[in-house]
Amino acid sequence: MTDGFNAALTEDQQTLVKWLHEFSTDVIRPAAAEWDEREETPWPIIQEAAKAGIYSMEFFGQQWFDPTGLGIVLAMEELFWGDAGIALSIVGTTLASAAILGNGTGEQIGEFIPQMFGDEKDVKLGCLCVSEPNAGSDVSSLKTRAEYDEANDTWILNGVKTWATNGGIADGHVVVASVDPSLAARGQASFFVPAEFKGKGLAQGQKFKKHGIRASHTAEVVLDDLRLPGKYLLGGKDKLDERMARVREGKRSGSQAAMATFEASRPAVAAQAVGVARAAYDYSLEYAKTREQFKRPIIQNQAIAFKLADMKTRIDAARLLTWRAAWMGRNQIPFTAGEGSMSKVFAGETAVWVTEQAIQILGGNGYTREYPVERMHRDAKIYTIFEGTSEIQRLIISRAISGVKIA
Ligand SMILES: Cc1cc2nc3c(=O)[nH]c(=O)nc-3n(C[C@H](O)[C@H](O)[C@H](O)COP(=O)(O)OP(=O)(O)OC[C@H]3O[C@@H](n4cnc5c(N)ncnc54)[C@H](O)[C@@H]3O)c2cc1C
Repeated sequence: MTDGFNAALTEDQQTLVKWLHEFSTDVIRPAAAEWDEREETPWPIIQEAAKAGIYSMEFFGQQWFDPTGLGIVLAMEELFWGDAGIALSIVGTTLASAAILGNGTGEQIGEFIPQMFGDEKDVKLGCLCVSEPNAGSDVSSLKTRAEYDEANDTWILNGVKTWATNGGIADGHVVVASVDPSLAARGQASFFVPAEFKGKGLAQGQKFKKHGIRASHTAEVVLDDLRLPGKYLLGGKDKLDERMARVREGKRSGSQAAMATFEASRPAVAAQAVGVARAAYDYSLEYAKTREQFKRPIIQNQAIAFKLADMKTRIDAARLLTWRAAWMGRNQIPFTAGEGSMSKVFAGETAVWVTEQAIQILGGNGYTREYPVERMHRDAKIYTIFEGTSEIQRLIISRAISGVKIA
């Protein structure tokens, strides 16, 4: 389904790409190696992004609602071309924002999202907590419970969330919890936990040391008798009660809290992977033109030139799948063949493959931390894991194209 799809960028989109590319070149890329080694959230760079007008609700809102659907994927590709770890620290808040946009009321959207961004003088972060130690791919089996204390119109949350990007350091956490475990995913709801509950029922657990995207903070979030006023249930209690009643009667519910968020964000995540792949391709192309062995640039060997040809071909194919999915998502064209998942699995695996080829092109240099491609290779691997593993994406695509309940 591509009727009306147009891959030609408007003038505004071209300006956006140029502007973000400059920011990535001047601010993100020079800081990449340092923050990868420090394995810490690059607050000064996020602040620079806020000052430039990139880290803001308005900026991401504008890209998210670009009628062509391409604004957000163009932004992701350019920022992640700069560096994936830093860029994830800059855009991590958008995942939690998407959960609020997808599940919250108009009033909640207006009140909660700004709390996660702060402003250029005092930047804040947002975090989406879905995964748990025993519920990663299988989000229907969340153990975190939300129990309602009707007398006090208060929700009591208990459980442990894991691998949360910005977990514990965020000023706004969106937590997906089970209200009625017998209904599995359809008995779940999303809650916004504002900063005032940090240390009062919400605490950071262990921070993980990772293989890649090390400038992005990943940690456990522990919920211990967190007493949350009723207004923090996204969408409100009436809507939740209605939805669960429909499910109990055997009717379909409108949406599943966690899955709705992931569906919408898949092309954006695919675009991040395209950015990482393009960064490694650009670097290795230049290297191959200047590195000489046997008295000629190594690109004059077909073995190297053909690698670069394949890298470019796969990157462009990944981008086109990503743009198509972003366009379909924005125009509410259903993903009848799992097009969102196609973009994520293909772009993710392309990033891993391309970054590995880049190391090969750089030879020994590529294997050292003196050169950026080994970092890009470590960073790329996350794209076959988070926001649905490659296997889960294939499950979604194969079920969509066959109509068969493939396990
Ligand atoms: C750096 C990082 C950041 C993250 N950020 C967040 C975040 O901000 N918020 C959040 O909620 N989560 C986050 N996650 C969690 C991430 O989404 C999960 O790691 C991911 O969904 C996979 O779950 P799992 O790790 O439990 O793997 P598992 O589900 O245990 O899977 C292990 C392996 O089994 C395969 N597998 C599982 N089930 C099937 C099946 N039915 N068919 C075929 N293969 C299957 C998987 O594909 C995988 O290869 C993050 C993870 C990482 C590493």
